[in-house]
Amino acid sequence: MNYIKDNLKDVEKKVADAALRVGRKPEEILLLPVTKTHPIEMIEPILEEGYKQIGENKVQEIKTKYEVFENRADMHMIGHLQQNKVKQVLDKVSLIHSVDSLRIAEKINKEAEKIGRVMDVLIQVNVAKDEAKYGFDLNEVEEILCILKDYKYLKIQGLMTIAPFVSNPEDNRHIFRNLNDLFVDIRQKNIDNINMNILSMGMTNDYEVAIEEGSNLVRVGTGIFGARNYYK
Ligand SMILES: *Cc1c(COP(=O)(O)O)cnc(C)c1O
Repeated sequence: MNYIKDNLKDVEKKVADAALRVGRKPEEILLLPVTKTHPIEMIEPILEEGYKQIGENKVQEIKTKYEVFENRADMHMIGHLQQNKVKQVLDKVSLIHSVDSLRIAEKINKEAEKIGRVMDVLIQVNVAKDEAKYGFDLNEVEEILCILKDYKYLKIQGLMTIAPFVSNPEDNRHIFRNLNDLFVDIRQKNIDNINMNILSMGMTNDYEVAIEEGSNLVRVGTGIFGARNYYK
């Protein structure tokens, strides 16, 4: 599995270079290895390198991996969450990136109250207005936050987006720029109970551009582990 460590070093270098190009500190950026579909053996090298957080997108897989990694790594839920599964992940993940509707926010708040936990979450924004993707429109985010600020068991920590798959990552630059503009804007408004600490944007194909445009959390799967095999 040495190739995983080699890939990781390569991605770390690109993350740092992208940050430095725009006068940012590489340490400001969290590289979140996205381990979905990959077996435990492939995740071990990442933990050996000191990583303490991994990204997953399926509830069942989170449950299985939680059994194994409970004390060694925190999991982030990065995929769309169904209401009836909220309860199963709440005690197993440290951050939910994918609050993409008011209904799911309400459900998380309600279930979190039951277990007495304040859940850290990000608001997913569908910047590109991609029909196939979940998330709020850019122009509704502020209004939504004004509702969510009163949810006592939700702690909004920032924003997340999934940009379209494009052959030239430059084509996504405006998306990242627009979301960063909103992020900075909301942060300046200092809304009660709303933090703007985390801007989760950028995947294997476009994380360097995302960092140049202000991302401080990049979610990288393929770039570290190689292509996923969904048919195993
Ligand atoms: C799978 C996934 C990623 C990682 O994608 P790669 O292109 O393999 O880096 C990032 N974010 C989300 C939400 C994902 O589902």
